Amino acid sequence: MTHTRNTPASQKTNLPVPSGAHLDERSRRAREEPMSVTAFGADVYEVETEADHRYLVNVVAGRCTCPDHVFRDERCKHLRRVAIEITDGRVPPPGYVAAPCAVCEETVFVQTASDDPHLCPRHRLQRGDVARDRETGGMVLVVAVSNRRADEVRIPSQDCTVAEYVTNRGYPASDPVVSAVYPAIRVTRHGPEPESLRVYSFPVSRLVRSES
Ligand SMILES: [Zn+2]
Ligand SMILES: [Zn+2]
Repeated sequence: MTHTRNTPASQKTNLPVPSGAHLDERSRRAREEPMSVTAFGADVYEVETEADHRYLVNVVAGRCTCPDHVFRDERCKHLRRVAIEITDGRVPPPGYVAAPCAVCEETVFVQTASDDPHLCPRHRLQRGDVARDRETGGMVLVVAVSNRRADEVRIPSQDCTVAEYVTNRGYPASDPVVSAVYPAIRVTRHGPEPESLRVYSFPVSRLVRSES
């Protein structure tokens, strides 16, 4: 199950003009005039102006419904403002939508076509990441990150869900499930061998990505 939401309609605000910048008239007005920008998805953004006019901007096609663009074919202040808002990270870029992180609900921009769970940079884990298990302090190697919640995934050998498992009860039942192995190696007379290839399932916030 994926949750998405439009960016909350922002307040109309103006933006600071960078000091020392020599902006042409439209670029200056794109910053100085109070406007709000809302992502509608599919490359389209709505800009509401100080005078309550609403224009639709397609930032990929470089089109706006305002007279300045339609009749004069200018790269109008609305197009410029949307580009600034995307660059500054206040609205999602084309192909992305705003969604709450599945762990902390911080707003993240996720690709519309992706099935990956919505995770902010702090909680994001990917296959191949090395992470520390908060419960044991041990290091694990992430092999898969699922879109499914800890209370939806059953542990076959335990007859309970990942969320119900005794050492996972301190973590949110809504956490996406991460599969990982303990990459321990033992040396045998045949050379080094993995201790175990058993795959364990964790609520994502039980694991902390190792930065090294
Ligand atoms: Zn325009
Ligand atoms: Zn988060």
